[in-house]
Amino acid sequence: MPIRILPPEIAEKIAAGEVVERPASVVKELVENSLDAGATDIRVEISEGGRRLIRVADNGHGIPEDEVELAFARHATSKLVTADDLQRIRTLGFRGEALASIAAVSIVTMVTRHKDEAAGTAIRLEDGVVISKERRGMSPGTIITVEHLFHNVPARLKFLRQPATEAAHVHAIVGRYALAFPERRFSLAHGDRVLLQTTGSGDVLEVLSRVYDHETAAQMIPLPSGERQGVRVSGFISQPSLTRSNRTYLTLFLNRRWIHDNGINQAIIQGYHTLLPQGRYPLAVVFLEMPPEWVDVNVHPTKTEVRFADGRRVFRAVMEAVRQALSEHASVPGFEPRAEPTSWPGWAERRQALISAGRPDVGEDQMSLPLPRPEPSSVTLRPAPSPPPAQKREALPLLRVVGQIGASYIVAEGPDGMYLIDQHAAHERILYEQLMEQRERGEIPVQALLEPLSITLPPVLAAAASEALDDLRKLGFDLEPFGQNAFLLRSVPAILSEHEPRRALEDVLESLESERHSVAQAQEEALIRVVCKRAAIKAGQALSMAEMQEMIRQLEACRSPRTCPHGRPTMIHISAEQLARGFGRR
Ligand code: ADP
Ligand code: MG
Repeated sequence: MPIRILPPEIAEKIAAGEVVERPASVVKELVENSLDAGATDIRVEISEGGRRLIRVADNGHGIPEDEVELAFARHATSKLVTADDLQRIRTLGFRGEALASIAAVSIVTMVTRHKDEAAGTAIRLEDGVVISKERRGMSPGTIITVEHLFHNVPARLKFLRQPATEAAHVHAIVGRYALAFPERRFSLAHGDRVLLQTTGSGDVLEVLSRVYDHETAAQMIPLPSGERQGVRVSGFISQPSLTRSNRTYLTLFLNRRWIHDNGINQAIIQGYHTLLPQGRYPLAVVFLEMPPEWVDVNVHPTKTEVRFADGRRVFRAVMEAVRQALSEHASVPGFEPRAEPTSWPGWAERRQALISAGRPDVGEDQMSLPLPRPEPSSVTLRPAPSPPPAQKREALPLLRVVGQIGASYIVAEGPDGMYLIDQHAAHERILYEQLMEQRERGEIPVQALLEPLSITLPPVLAAAASEALDDLRKLGFDLEPFGQNAFLLRSVPAILSEHEPRRALEDVLESLESERHSVAQAQEEALIRVVCKRAAIKAGQALSMAEMQEMIRQLEACRSPRTCPHGRPTMIHISAEQLARGFGRR
């Protein structure tokens, strides 16, 4: 095909796709506009999860009549005049793309009255084209109604999830802005249900208790406010006893803009040092303030990714604030923020436990030796090679267990060298194959609870649960909805019977949610995978010789022993030859 400039309506849709992914992204852009317009009262209303209708009403400064049409033109903004302004952005918007993008993929009605004008303007656009414009009486402010989102982009429509799920994402967005702007009033309604309502009192903790719940808010501790190297850090973090199974509860704001930043997430987690159990993450709402010229917010059309001029400075400021807060508020005996681990985490206790269990092979002297550092080039670690694909069963050689290191890996000897086995991944594989087989036979063992447990879930998880009720039941989670986000839990899968039922369910739903983003896959299998992940022995758990031998025996019986259900290797093989070469014997 010859090269051609795309017709404007196609180019529009492509550009819109970058900004508008789902109803929650529309809400995000509209709420940002209301905040930029100085609104103190922002009401959000959606129906059918936002697919039918999204309405955002504010009491901000409004748009003058002669600029109303311009607001919908691409790259039309009142927030930026010169390229230099890009270096000191104080507003949430600046790219002038949101309204154009939203209008390109929906039917938009806007009524707005500028604070200095006597009457308002009503304008209606279909697929980006103005259909009508007229004067109308109203009080100052802006009401935007977005209907039939993606009606002209079937590809996007197909990817929208159930209304409850989309509403939960909208809830997450509005909740975040309510936290960032506690002095403004927010409300969110889905159909005739009010999902969120804040008072605008300025109290972040109060907003926290409305966005999450009272118990959660009660377990948050404040970050010491103050400036560190030009970076002002404030907000709340959870007591080490309150944790979640993933990072989605780390909420960051930079100059009041909600951002994603793995580096800062890591700074928070490192601030907890060793206070968090393996695989658990804190909740946090962290506000960063710094001169706008220290950050570039113009990295991505959704403006949630940023680049710092000096990332390390920001990292240190956050980590120190978290450490200080924990050492002042968290009641943890023996917490020493500055101690660096010199051996495997928790090694001292494990060694003690082993000695008292009568394991003479764990002597005093050996243990105080520093770990030798391997020469980087001498031995290359490779996942154990997989046999040719034609072979159905990937048999393992017979393995002799030598021991465990780091309470995470099993060291074993095979006829052809040394094997390092990841105990968590291996156990996941074993449980997965067992569960899949039980499912085929239609008899997954279930553990009934003595009394049904009533559980209220956060909206995202409640939506995930409602969507997966049948599959959850087949697996052993007998869950019955009753009321808003509330469920009765009657049983759990037997392989999770050792776990606290509420937490097991929450963790499984959370993992299910985060797995969904990565791959579109059959829900039931995804569920089985996350249940196994939850039930499997964790890294950091000391195992007895007998336990390790049993695990290796079961792994040998698996059809695909060399990978975990998520496709990662369960073992690394170092061949006898590699060892010999590494020691200069060849
Ligand atoms: P941006 O926010 O990047 O400037 P938008 O497409 O979101 O771009 O909005 C375009 C312009 O429309 C804004 O610059 C602003 O002047 C005006 N505008 C949009 N929404 C509102 C609102 N709720 N109140 C007042 N002005 C608004
Ligand atoms: Mg905007």
